[in-house]
Amino acid sequence: MQYHNFHTHTRYSDGHDTPREMIEEALSRGFTSLGFSDHSFAWFESYYSMSEEGTVRQFREIRQLADEYRGRIRIYAGIELDGESAIPTLDYDFILSSVHEAVRHGRSFPIDSGKEQHLALVRELYGGSYTDFTKDYYMRLTEHVIRNRTDIVGHLDLPTKYSTCPEDDPRYRDAAIEAVREIVKHCKVFELNTGAIARGLRTVPYPAAFLLDEIKAQGGAMIVNSDCHYRAKLTCWFDEAEEYLAAHGFRRFDNQRLNDRIDGVTLWK
Ligand SMILES: [Zn+2]
Ligand SMILES: [Zn+2]
Repeated sequence: MQYHNFHTHTRYSDGHDTPREMIEEALSRGFTSLGFSDHSFAWFESYYSMSEEGTVRQFREIRQLADEYRGRIRIYAGIELDGESAIPTLDYDFILSSVHEAVRHGRSFPIDSGKEQHLALVRELYGGSYTDFTKDYYMRLTEHVIRNRTDIVGHLDLPTKYSTCPEDDPRYRDAAIEAVREIVKHCKVFELNTGAIARGLRTVPYPAAFLLDEIKAQGGAMIVNSDCHYRAKLTCWFDEAEEYLAAHGFRRFDNQRLNDRIDGVTLWK
C-alpha cells in the first residue's frame, strides 16, 4: 500500500474531522506524508467551499501542524481549487484542480451533491442532454488546468458519479479523450479517486477505464487519492486500487517527485 494521501478534507470545508485528527489517523496507518486539500472559496454558494477567512486560518493551521509534526510525518498545505475560484494568493505546496459545478448563463449547479440535483442540472442547464453537459464539463476542466498551476487533476470524469451518463456515447467519450490529450500537456498527474466508493456511491473509482487507457497512452501518471472526508476512510480502496491499476497496464513507481516541494510519492505510469 502507498503511505500518503493528497486529497484530504477537514472541517474547514466539508470534511468531518479536524486537521490534527486527520494527521493522527495518518500516523496510525504508517503514512509518511499527508496533503490537505480543502475546497477553495468560490463565487457561488455552496455548503462545501471554505470561507475567505477560513481559507487563511486553514493555511496557517496546516503550516503550524507541519512544524509540530516535523520528523514524524510530512504535512503539506494544498487546495482543491475549483474552476470557478480565483488564483490562490497563499503559497500552497500543491494544487489539485477540480470542477464541481456546472455553470451556464450565470447560474451554477453542483455536479456531485446528490443524484436529484444532478438530474436537475442536466435538465435545466442542458435541456436534458448528457452529452452537452459532459462536453461542457470537460471543456471547463481543460480550461481550468491550462489557466491555473495544477499538480494533480482532480476526479476527472465526475459527471459519471451517479452512473447517469451513457458511458458508451461516443460524443461523451470523444470529449473526455480530447480533454485528456490536452490536459496531459499541462499536468501529467491524474488521480484515481476512491472517494465515491467510500461513500457507497460507486464500486469502481474515477476515471472510467477507457480514460485510464488514454492517460497511459499519452504518457500520464496516476496517483491514488481517497478524497477523504472521514478519517476512518483515509485509505479506502487503496489495496484494490493497486490491483486495478496493474490490471490496466500501469506499473508502480515509488519515491517519485510530484513537484519541486513534494517527493517520496508513489505514482503509477
Ligand atoms: Zn472535489
Ligand atoms: Zn475533494
